[in-house]
Amino acid sequence: MNNNVRVRMAPSPTGFFHVGSARTALYNWLFARHHNGKFILRVEDTDVKRSSPEMINVILDGMKWLGLDWDEEYFQSQRLDLYRQYAEKLLDTGQAYYCYCDPQELEKERKEAYKKKINWHYDRRCLNLSPDEKEKKEKDGLPRAVRFMIPDTTVKYNDLIHGEIGRDSIDIEDFVILRHDKSPTYNLACVVDDADMKISHVIRAVDHITNTPKQILLYEAFDLPKPEFAHLPLILGKDKSKLSKRHGAVSLMEYRDQGFLPEAIFNYLALLGWSPGDDKEIMSCNEIIERFMLDRVNASNAVFDIEKLEWMNQQYIMVMDRDELITRSMPFLTKEKIYTNDLNQNKVKLRSIIDLMAPRLKVLADISKVRFFFSDEFQYDDKLMQKHCTKKTLDIMADYLTVFRKIEPFDIKTLDESLRTFADKNTIKAREIIHPLRAYVTGQEGGPGLFETMAVLGRDTCIRRIEKILKQSGHNV
Ligand code: GLU
Repeated sequence: MNNNVRVRMAPSPTGFFHVGSARTALYNWLFARHHNGKFILRVEDTDVKRSSPEMINVILDGMKWLGLDWDEEYFQSQRLDLYRQYAEKLLDTGQAYYCYCDPQELEKERKEAYKKKINWHYDRRCLNLSPDEKEKKEKDGLPRAVRFMIPDTTVKYNDLIHGEIGRDSIDIEDFVILRHDKSPTYNLACVVDDADMKISHVIRAVDHITNTPKQILLYEAFDLPKPEFAHLPLILGKDKSKLSKRHGAVSLMEYRDQGFLPEAIFNYLALLGWSPGDDKEIMSCNEIIERFMLDRVNASNAVFDIEKLEWMNQQYIMVMDRDELITRSMPFLTKEKIYTNDLNQNKVKLRSIIDLMAPRLKVLADISKVRFFFSDEFQYDDKLMQKHCTKKTLDIMADYLTVFRKIEPFDIKTLDESLRTFADKNTIKAREIIHPLRAYVTGQEGGPGLFETMAVLGRDTCIRRIEKILKQSGHNV
């Protein structure tokens, strides 16, 4: 246990919570909880124009939904003075300088060089201004940014996931730390905050690994203690390219809306890049907290496998307390206008339906397949009906209906036995009745056991539906 562990999730409010960011948040949270440390939320909203409370809330709601509670909360937009003070410190010690260049002009130069495949770095032209030139620019009131002067050194650090990483500072340009409008850039604000918030471990996506040497140079310039760094592997789609919308849903909230359970997503994301060292896959939150270690996080990229996630979700649904499952399914049932408490629909029936459906739901939204239990207004699968409405089948079903009307008691066992007896007597296979019967009473090909389904539907409903199909097909009933 290391009670001094302080980690953070530092989202930029983009109005979107990518599953990759959710995993970063989760690993930080697990690391904090494992070590009895603190998990800090820091909203990186320095780009005030581009962030709104709604955009921030998407991320906060996602974290709450996953159960990732935080111990402290900060907003960079409320700390702008602090970053300016730190930039001043570097100006005072000569480790930073004013740059009067037009950012658009510089961008043009950069693009030109890129086209010619030339490596382009800011050439320190403003550092090399003579006092007179500088004075003139100041007099002219030219807007100025602050650039950090990269010292001539080699940056080395030990990444907790990727091992030793080194970078020659010659490859790093004097980057801007304060823009013309005095807003801090990401690297400055990040270092100032990580130091000020006493962050012990920076655990973030590998996309940021190229920022780390820059940040280390800033720590050294400020003479501040450095945190440990751990860069999490990328999440790829099945085609091994970076996970993006092309691969399907990438926003955490889309998964919520499809009826993935937060506990299943939690479990799945925990294993997306980390493994406890055995083959155990379904683990409770507490077990994951207990077993979570950074040294078991993979350096190689992880592949997001939606089928695996669906499988896991299904495992969680299957064992969920049934009352709880009813509660969680309710928004999906009401949205589809299948079941609402105000309709005074039968609660006992709902319970039996949920019992039948529980082992078959990959996602809660699959519950919409139960419409046929509550009403005759459901969609028949046309192809399926064609297949089961041939003359031969209709004749069999019409005969069978006469037996069906008299089945007593109308329960699973008797329904099953009487169907098989009828099939034997008429030397036909049981499935020659089972498949059309299922199509007639449910409109679907699959689903829970037919006899269990019919027992819940009740005799009258089943007869009504069989008669309807026969009549529609011109059969006398
Ligand atoms: N705001 C950055 C992001 O969302 C944070 C990176 C970091 O964790 O340092 O990617």
